[in-house]
Amino acid sequence: MHYLSTRGNAPALTFSQILLGGLAPDGGLYLPETYPRFSADDLAAMRGMDYRQLAFAVLSRLADDIPADDLKVLIDKTYTADTYCHGRQDSDYSQITPVRKLEDDLYILELSNGPTLAFKDMAMQLLGNLFEYALDKAGQDINILGATSGDTGSAAEYAMRGKHNVRVFMLSPEHGMTRFQQAQMYSLQDANIFNIAVRGVFDDCQDMVKSVSNDLEFKAKYRIGAVNSINWGRIAAQVIYYFKAYFAVTENNQQQVSFSVPSGNFGNVCAGHIARMLGLPVHKLIVATNENDVLDEFFHSGVYRPRTAAQTLHTSSPSMDISKASNFERFVADLTGRDAAKVAELWKAVDAGGSFDLKPDGLFDNIKNFGIVSGSSSHADRMRTIRLVWEKYRVMIDTHTADGLKVGLEHRDPGIPLVCLETALPAKFEDSIVEALGMRPERPAGLENLESLPRRVTDMDADVAAIQAFIARHAND
Ligand SMILES: *Cc1c(COP(=O)(O)O)cnc(C)c1O
Repeated sequence: MHYLSTRGNAPALTFSQILLGGLAPDGGLYLPETYPRFSADDLAAMRGMDYRQLAFAVLSRLADDIPADDLKVLIDKTYTADTYCHGRQDSDYSQITPVRKLEDDLYILELSNGPTLAFKDMAMQLLGNLFEYALDKAGQDINILGATSGDTGSAAEYAMRGKHNVRVFMLSPEHGMTRFQQAQMYSLQDANIFNIAVRGVFDDCQDMVKSVSNDLEFKAKYRIGAVNSINWGRIAAQVIYYFKAYFAVTENNQQQVSFSVPSGNFGNVCAGHIARMLGLPVHKLIVATNENDVLDEFFHSGVYRPRTAAQTLHTSSPSMDISKASNFERFVADLTGRDAAKVAELWKAVDAGGSFDLKPDGLFDNIKNFGIVSGSSSHADRMRTIRLVWEKYRVMIDTHTADGLKVGLEHRDPGIPLVCLETALPAKFEDSIVEALGMRPERPAGLENLESLPRRVTDMDADVAAIQAFIARHAND
């Protein structure tokens, strides 16, 4: 199978060829040329599978240029109960992504039991193993440079730590992450992980990454790579748990299920869309945003109007504080029926700081064929939902999951199971839980003293020359 750019002006490549790259050379994102489709017989066979078997069933279709035996080894190494065991004490870790029943037809899908307590571990742990495998095969190494305001950076570091052919240089704003998030990253002592605390805000960090990536000579010389949310390997890995959850909450494959997804860069819900395109019986995909509601605006109006960093609000679900959804182009490509010229035209406007409206030419009418609906949630909604779920079910959820649950319930249909994706554990966002419930969330075992561990972090001004010198000094360690 080959992957094509959404903008239609880049070579067709295989899964392994796009694994280590970012954008396609024409600025677009890669998608399978056509979606493979699971037949009724396939789905019947998949119903009895455990997580690793399902992962193989899904990924062997999407990564069909990796030899099956190699892919199996990588999957078996990744999806173990030992890696995904950091959640609640009563979770069933053998399921990797267990579902927790709140009441009939209402579930939470536990995606945050990995090492950094957020759903990004589901994909990033696989990516770490895939990177190591692909780099070994090519006899290469890579220096990953990224900027983070929390979950992505820590998930990347925990996935890449100890890998012999990968170094991670992660920029984070000196202030702006929770104490827990900082401690999680800065306490890593692995020689191939470099934490850099920038005297500035997240946008300064991101600008530094951009400048380094635009320095093509430097980029080539030091083999600079990225693991951002547009990485197709991450999307592919996220498809697996939609299948796992579907089989967990249904008895037969005639039933349909709705999924509610706390969204920022549209990566998680994009994976749900792909699952549906592969043949999973999905009723609704519910896109939940916080006050940064650029996606909700689109699904209500057909207008996609990204906002600037300055217009982006800081909220109590910070991992969704995003106003330009980097994976959204993948969905719009499908919405246009893969009209690459149209997608290129739309993103020409977006890349120039503008917006587009899909109502006038009728494209927005196609939305109904994709089952996507949306809603937004505010700080008050989060607090109320966290309290409601605690009082009614004695389950503690974090602020992002609360956004998802709040919006999910607004779109719930009688008789159709609703699965709300848990994207982080409450322990990561203690202050908000204290505000909502007046008590501290439970810490998963082993993380009680995280903040008092020794730290390995370098302070730096928001200075491109400084980060380049730092990379040059360590790139061959
Ligand atoms: C990254 C993240 C999200 C948003 O996911 P996208 O794939 O960017 O839409 C939501 N919640 C948490 C906790 C996250 O870390």
